[in-house]
Amino acid sequence: MPTFETQAYWDAVDRQELLVKTCKACGQAHYTPRSHCPHCFSSDTHWQPASGRAVVYSYAIANRADPPYVVAYVQLAEGPMMLANIVACAPADVHIGQAVQVIFQPDAEGRTRPYFQPTPKDAA
Ligand SMILES: [Zn+2]
Repeated sequence: MPTFETQAYWDAVDRQELLVKTCKACGQAHYTPRSHCPHCFSSDTHWQPASGRAVVYSYAIANRADPPYVVAYVQLAEGPMMLANIVACAPADVHIGQAVQVIFQPDAEGRTRPYFQPTPKDAA
């Protein structure tokens, strides 16, 4: 459920925009929406649009699902790690270090969510 702190994040997702929180004190980005920076505990954080580019850090294939799907930790180009499903890619083709980019799709309940798909070769 969106809370006050994450509302800006979900509003942006509805606009097909991915935001990361960036700390003004230490300059590091963090994905998990929170008011205090996990790196230096400063409360001087603000939302910033992310590029949407990421790399697969680790993943798991949900083989019992039909069809099977891949859930992965992807590391955003801005640095933070986020958990997301990998789409538009056969589970067997997903690999660590793979370049992916964000794509926005409605989930089963019709709520827009960020997913990641392989970066097209010509766009890399
Ligand atoms: Zn900081």
